[in-house]
Amino acid sequence: MLANDGCSRMPIYDPIARLEEGVRRELEHETECSGSFMASTFESQFANNWARLKYTGEADPPSREYVGKELLFESNLLCARDIHSFIALPNRREFELCFYQQATLRRFLEQHAAESQQDKWKFWSIDSSVSIGVVNLVVKFWTGRVSDHDVEVYLNRYCSILQKPYKPLDQFGIWYGIRKYKVELKRDANNHLMSLPTSVSLGPYNGRLQYPGQEVRCFICNSTDHRVKECREVKCWKCANLGHKANACKNDAECSLCGQRGHSFFHCPRSFSNVARRGTEHQKPVTDGASDFRQRLGL
Ligand SMILES: [Zn+2]
Ligand SMILES: [Zn+2]
Ligand SMILES: [Zn+2]
Repeated sequence: MLANDGCSRMPIYDPIARLEEGVRRELEHETECSGSFMASTFESQFANNWARLKYTGEADPPSREYVGKELLFESNLLCARDIHSFIALPNRREFELCFYQQATLRRFLEQHAAESQQDKWKFWSIDSSVSIGVVNLVVKFWTGRVSDHDVEVYLNRYCSILQKPYKPLDQFGIWYGIRKYKVELKRDANNHLMSLPTSVSLGPYNGRLQYPGQEVRCFICNSTDHRVKECREVKCWKCANLGHKANACKNDAECSLCGQRGHSFFHCPRSFSNVARRGTEHQKPVTDGASDFRQRLGL
């Protein structure tokens, strides 16, 4: 029993939970460091996470106390320790907030967007350092064998990529599998922002996607109620449906890269290796070497 050996002071060892927590922390560190794609100090990080509330009504501008009580802390969404500073500007109509974490600022802006029709926000506009539809996304694959092309084909199903990936190097000058993208999330039919999946499998290669303000979801069934270690679902890796395993699957395969049915990742016409293969087939000379040489000389 673990509890009786020398490790008794350690919490009970749960390898899946440990692993998941470790990955989450690692990527969280990467996401918070990607506010600007430069090395950022602690100060410049929260200086980048600001929102300015502006009172647009005709009446006397409300006090700082009113703003704090009615707009910021009333809904339990924020608490004082999320906020680095809350300052009433000299024009008395504007209030500046700086947040420690971009994720908290995003949650605040999303909450505001959801409540914007309510009376309390009627005469307020918000300006911010972040646009809620635009996020700095961190993608990590546990292999160097997945191409940028394939990652981008996959991401384009869910968002628009605004910048080529930034691929940080470690202290040896070697890439360690992280790609950072600036992306714009798509909206669904109800104009709600669509969230990105938290995990991706391209053939045998597994990856994770993380960005500030991302909803935590179960990797298997995509539910927000529980984490993977509590999941009771079985997922088929062939068709991606729940409720059966691949060896009992009677459905068409779903391509994990482009999302279409009828082929797997390895046979996807859009994958890097298949695009590259077609490219070299096109370039093959149709003539024998000698006549090709004569043609090039114009003979
Ligand atoms: Zn689940
Ligand atoms: Zn299936
Ligand atoms: Zn495909």
